[in-house]
Amino acid sequence: MQLSNKQDAKVAIIGAGPAGTTLARLLHRADIPSTIFEAEKSLEARTQGGTLDLHYNTGIKAVKEAGLHDEYLKHARYDGEAFTFADKQYRIYIRRPGSTGESKHGRPEIDRSRLREILVASMPQNSIKWGVKIKEVVGRDGEWWLSDDDGKDHGPYHLVVGADGAFSRVRKLLSDEFPSYAGVGGVWGLIHDAEKRFPKLHAMANRGSFFSFSDGKSIMAQQLGDGCLNVSAIWARPENWTKTNGLDEQNGEALRSAALKGYTDWDERITSLLDAIDSGGLVNRDLYHLPVGIRWKHVPGLTLIGDAAHLMTPFAGEGVNLAMTDALDLSRVISKAVEGSINTSRDLRPILSFALKGFEDDMFRRAAEVQQKTLDMMNFMFFTPGAPYTTIERYAMTALSDELPNGTAWAVGLMMHTFLFVKKKWFLKPEPKVE
Ligand SMILES: Cc1cc2nc3c(=O)[nH]c(=O)nc-3n(C[C@H](O)[C@H](O)[C@H](O)COP(=O)(O)OP(=O)(O)OC[C@H]3O[C@@H](n4cnc5c(N)ncnc54)[C@H](O)[C@@H]3O)c2cc1C
Repeated sequence: MQLSNKQDAKVAIIGAGPAGTTLARLLHRADIPSTIFEAEKSLEARTQGGTLDLHYNTGIKAVKEAGLHDEYLKHARYDGEAFTFADKQYRIYIRRPGSTGESKHGRPEIDRSRLREILVASMPQNSIKWGVKIKEVVGRDGEWWLSDDDGKDHGPYHLVVGADGAFSRVRKLLSDEFPSYAGVGGVWGLIHDAEKRFPKLHAMANRGSFFSFSDGKSIMAQQLGDGCLNVSAIWARPENWTKTNGLDEQNGEALRSAALKGYTDWDERITSLLDAIDSGGLVNRDLYHLPVGIRWKHVPGLTLIGDAAHLMTPFAGEGVNLAMTDALDLSRVISKAVEGSINTSRDLRPILSFALKGFEDDMFRRAAEVQQKTLDMMNFMFFTPGAPYTTIERYAMTALSDELPNGTAWAVGLMMHTFLFVKKKWFLKPEPKVE
């Protein structure tokens, strides 16, 4: 089927997460229409807790290409880059202040909900079909049809993009892989109005993040733009912890007291983060990932981006950045193929298929590196005896690996090792208590 103009291109995107909305926005900028099908009923249907740090060469680059950088800057929190890394005795290994403005190596934080709002608001009305959960994708006569959970069909489409997250339904058409349990899970919750109600806890995050690890366990707190602290306790545990322990997932207080039992030998200033989570507001979550280096044989007219393509745990803070980079690259590939079809009066499908193969190969390569980095960072903190004392150098260097200018890794590594050697030998003491 040859296209006479860009409006003839028929692109369906399943999922209005960061990957799907970024792709739709970028296509809109290129005058190519697309429709997003999103299972959630509306933008407000689910609280999108948590904060995401966008990186200069990936997430922020996509935001810029989407023409949303000014809007993004209104909500990005450069002071959110502040970062404290401690162990269970509240001995601080690394403390970094936040910054005040954009830098090439900046990783400003933005609330997940705010990022989604910006992207959704930038698209034409009705380009997102809220409350439509896609059940099946079926190929017919070289085109694709979608059917939803209510039995309604949508289509036909030249291209269907599965941006439908961890448990993607589109993935099964491309790959036999399914996410496996990563070996860690935990409880999450918010502390509202932390600065006023819990100034000491608020100060621990220093408007950014507080991370503490020991004995395969962690407690973390991250400041959100609305003044909440997003707190998690994550630890190495078998899958289905709640079921095995007869815990009701809806009973936040039961989750809190069960989780706290694993932290009795932790500094109480750290565990008080868990204590302070708003009453009843705890949720339990197991973390899953796809195998490092996942790839599939190309199927014309179908592809995946974001977590659907390469789900990983959040320990390197790369998932959203990779998802938005996928969207950026894919938008360019689609745009080029559509223009190619119009300019040469040739069928879009073979042109698109050839381009998609190239896109997928690049994505597989890029994702494999980040998946490995994420796995390493998780292993350094949760599955290596003596962590963080024994692993902090490797953890820090892995975290920084993609930020360092070419040829500087050895120098930064030397400085980092020297700094941490001195710190560990002479200065690693529990933080003094302040009354
Ligand atoms: C606890 C936690 C903390 C994280 N922290 C960070 C971080 O700090 N930094 C970072 O970079 N990454 C982080 N991540 C990872 C990041 O959230 C993901 O990588 C990112 O959201 C992926 O975006 P996505 O659009 O691919 O998928 P998602 O955000 O999962 O979006 C998928 C969308 O598809 C919809 N959907 C699913 N199935 C269907 C269907 N059948 N029909 C219609 N719609 C459907 C869903 O409702 C959802 O809206 C974290 C993840 C978790 C779990």
